[in-house]
Amino acid sequence: MNANLYALFESRFPADRNACCIETHDGLYYSWNDLDRATAKLANLLAGLGLPKDARIAVQVEKSPEALMLYLATIRAGYVYLPLNTAYRAAEIEYFVENAEPAVVVCSPQNFGWVSQIAFKCGTKHVFTLGEDRQGSLLNRAALQSNSFDTVTKQPDDLAAILYTSGTTGRSKGAMLTHDNLASNAKVLQDYWRWQPGDVLLHALPLFHVHGLFVASHGALLNGSKMIFLPKFDAAEVMHHMPRATVFMGVPTYYVRLLAEDSFGKEVCNNMRLFVSGSAPLLTETFNEFARRTGHTILERYGMSETTMLVSNPYEGDRVGGTVGLPLPGVSVRVVKGDCAACGSGEVGDIQVKGPNVFKGYWRMPEKTAEEFTADGYFKTGDVGKFDDNGYLSIVGRSKDLIISGGYNVYPKEIESFIDEMDGVAESAVVGVPHPDFGEAVTAVVVSKPGVTLSESQVIGSLKSKIANFKVPKRVFFVPELPRNTMGKVQKNVLRDQYKDG
Ligand code: ATP
Ligand code: MG
Repeated sequence: MNANLYALFESRFPADRNACCIETHDGLYYSWNDLDRATAKLANLLAGLGLPKDARIAVQVEKSPEALMLYLATIRAGYVYLPLNTAYRAAEIEYFVENAEPAVVVCSPQNFGWVSQIAFKCGTKHVFTLGEDRQGSLLNRAALQSNSFDTVTKQPDDLAAILYTSGTTGRSKGAMLTHDNLASNAKVLQDYWRWQPGDVLLHALPLFHVHGLFVASHGALLNGSKMIFLPKFDAAEVMHHMPRATVFMGVPTYYVRLLAEDSFGKEVCNNMRLFVSGSAPLLTETFNEFARRTGHTILERYGMSETTMLVSNPYEGDRVGGTVGLPLPGVSVRVVKGDCAACGSGEVGDIQVKGPNVFKGYWRMPEKTAEEFTADGYFKTGDVGKFDDNGYLSIVGRSKDLIISGGYNVYPKEIESFIDEMDGVAESAVVGVPHPDFGEAVTAVVVSKPGVTLSESQVIGSLKSKIANFKVPKRVFFVPELPRNTMGKVQKNVLRDQYKDG
């Protein structure tokens, strides 16, 4: 049997291949036949370059149906796909290209000058361009190729993609994902989230990250479902297309932005079946407000580049706000203290995971890979959390963000939730900064609601009556917004650096 992920998708194409597979925001339609032919042409182009078997194809392009087809063509041709965040500039691209040594680089036409310079310097032989409106050398060259291609045979353990982590806690690491990692996770989610005939996915996420590239696209492809493709998240555009969709996936910021629109409510969501949130914590306030306004309960799930999805709230049964749900079928998740002692329910510890979804290791970082696996084969996620009595997991934070003040452990999430509850607070982030007496001092960075003025002493005073003194921030700073990366994750390293001198 061919374990190539593309072969799995192909086996699930709908019987009517002339049906719509992708509809764009500006009214273009691509059928399943179009997808088959376009990926064949691109796969033929790549296969004709005489690349080594494990060649990496690095891609930094704006989102478009063709960008998705390039991903599919790469795996169809048996090569390794390496997507790069479109926000990255020269220094970052140089790091990734030097590190991954891709045989082919595909970039936006407007970036060809500087990207090709870096690529050629690092030994890449082929640089193509692909624009968001089908312009560029990649499609020009692919147009000359045959539109049939025999999907290359792959073993389950062969690499399909290298996904660089978001770099929230430090330098990005390349997570090596196999065909089976991706296929097994896609199948589990199709079942767990009850994908059904007639589903239509409204796709507003970027294509360079696990959420948009794998979780969202794979769901629709495996289910033979149409995707409505938006080039980026825009609340008005999302609301315009939502009445024809049934499934939507987003980072928490998308939900906050939709709720900020007065006209967003039940009517817009009439046809919707499922809203999924992930990549960063969804505030309970957003979860509750969304339910109140739309009647829909957002399904929050938890995943990462190294493992794709591992825990999810159920489709049927309780979706509990503030938790990420239950371990997915076939995935083993445990919370441990120290070396290996399993925590009881309610006890906070390190989250570890084992299963067919867990990656093969970090690209060219064998020591780091060895460090991040336990002797019995669990991957240390770097996240800290706890299970409740019903087996639901909550994420308390990242182990790197844990604050040790005066010898006591302080979990930022706990303090943040007390601050967020205060009148006039929109959101907050709590970090540890170096302190001569305490080792680290708890520091809070707060965003007030529009038109509200809060003071440092008000926040500190209110916390003192609620939580132990060692947890109360020594300082509170007010900012108009928290620094976030493109996936909506708060960059605590930036805050730690900014407030290190108090
Ligand atoms: P790096 O590993 O480079 O520091 P990163 O961990 O942010 O970056 P990703 O793999 O993109 O890179 O993100 C995975 C992380 O996102 C998880 O480890 C977790 O901390 C966070 N995350 C994902 N989903 C959720 C969620 N539902 N709630 C809270 N955090 C989440
Ligand atoms: Mg990480």
